[in-house]
Amino acid sequence: MSTKPDCHYVCQRCTACCKWAGDVQVNETEITGIAAFLGVSEHDFVRDFTRIRVNRTGLSLKDKEGTTECIMLEGDRCRIHEVKPRQCRGFPNTWNFPGWEDVCEAIAVPLKGEA
Ligand code: SF4
Ligand code: SF4
Repeated sequence: MSTKPDCHYVCQRCTACCKWAGDVQVNETEITGIAAFLGVSEHDFVRDFTRIRVNRTGLSLKDKEGTTECIMLEGDRCRIHEVKPRQCRGFPNTWNFPGWEDVCEAIAVPLKGEA
């Protein structure tokens, strides 16, 4: 985890994190919320939009066929923005990885009380 202390990073919706390879994890609560948001049954949502995680501990959103791009990305917007998974909401503030600043356009904003 490498973030500046006392800063919050504001997403600029560059969509880079929606296009890189890896798991976009969804838990049971998120599946319920996303399925309801899309107006489909949980069964159909799991069947059509998820796959087993690489480490087999649960489900992740599918990639678009032949790409590493999340199936929920439509142009430059997330189809499920209002109910997107916690993993998506948290990056890069609650989790990130070495070198994330090179691929993410989020802007650092000092937290209240800082310069
Ligand atoms: S769910 Fe939305 S925010 Fe999360 S990776 Fe997919 S397109 Fe991006
Ligand atoms: S890479 Fe960073 S700026 Fe781009 S969409 Fe993801 S969090 Fe937002």
